[in-house]
Amino acid sequence: MSAIQLNIPNELDRFLPDIVKRNYGKWKERRFHGPGIIEHVSEMGERVFTVKAALPPNARVSVDTLEKFADIADKLGVGALRITIAGNVEFITDSLEKALKIKEEVERLGFPVGGWGGALWGINTCTAFLTCQIAVIDAPSIGKALGDALKPYFTGEERLPAKLRIFVSGCPSGCAGGTAIDIAIVGMWGAPPKIREEALPLCMPPPKALAKIPESQVFLVQVCPTGALSLRREGDKVKLVLVGEKCINCGRCKDNCDAFDYDPKDVGAAILVGGKMANTGVGPRLARVLIPWIPANPPRYEEIVAVVKKVVDVWKTYAKPGERLADFVERIGWPKFVDLVGVPKMAAQYLWWPDAARTYLTYRARGEVIFKGFRDAP
Ligand code: SF4
Ligand code: SF4
Repeated sequence: MSAIQLNIPNELDRFLPDIVKRNYGKWKERRFHGPGIIEHVSEMGERVFTVKAALPPNARVSVDTLEKFADIADKLGVGALRITIAGNVEFITDSLEKALKIKEEVERLGFPVGGWGGALWGINTCTAFLTCQIAVIDAPSIGKALGDALKPYFTGEERLPAKLRIFVSGCPSGCAGGTAIDIAIVGMWGAPPKIREEALPLCMPPPKALAKIPESQVFLVQVCPTGALSLRREGDKVKLVLVGEKCINCGRCKDNCDAFDYDPKDVGAAILVGGKMANTGVGPRLARVLIPWIPANPPRYEEIVAVVKKVVDVWKTYAKPGERLADFVERIGWPKFVDLVGVPKMAAQYLWWPDAARTYLTYRARGEVIFKGFRDAP
């Protein structure tokens, strides 16, 4: 334990390759050499070439794959590689010739090379069912379906107006990275859980004790963040009730008691659009809810993929060169954007909603009608 405390965090320069250490803070110029290869030139005239490749969803790779990457980095690079925050791997080398060979070898292993500039930079997903117990949707497999559909935008076969990043989170905890992002997919239950009465006594105080305990001290009432769970006293009987209108489908009751059941047909996601962290254009902002709920149907998640592709198509068709999705939406106006994507009922509603409400209000509502409006739109 003490060794870990002594060594973490490591000194920044401890594992840096020499060429990077020598030129630290002295880079003055950069050039692109096709999708996924960037050259940096330093004041001292030294050059490094970085090759970027997409990793599988949740940036999960086997030890065997990591060893293959390490071999490539040793053989053709400067003996170092980097995993980026967007879930990509970057190889550093000292000549364009070697960079092109790295691209070839990495692609032969099945990893697409690309990103940077007007391109898809990466899709981040949380772990969801891989390690998490409160996931609504399987974020990594949605990331894979989206990655397959949008691959030409990563590899540069098709260009985008500007940078695009996508986050897929298994639930509203947003561990993929929140909603300050171009497009966020967030797992959402489409309806409150149902209470299985026969299992409930296992999670509640015995009836005699329950009759005397104040409602505020009953554990299941305490765990609900919105007051959707409360006690109803009828004579000497005490019953736990769930008020659906107050429920935000957070799943905390389910985490604490197996008597709460979600219906598998209610597995779905909200789709939020138009956020970013960059200070360019209209500045940083949170994405807004485009679709409050849409079904998540494995293995290819056609409904979610269709919406994301439509959003990207609209942006690609109408944006100015260099215009991020958030800036584009601001320029044409949210109602017009929603209309172009093909969600007319949503567009009509948004005309009347204040800005703050657009960000969060429908995050917790079921949007079947709106989804059908999108699906049936011409
Ligand atoms: S976003 Fe939700 S499902 Fe994903 S890791 Fe975080 S808590 Fe788990
Ligand atoms: S899902 Fe969340 S908001 Fe709904 S009843 Fe359970 S704890 Fe309360």
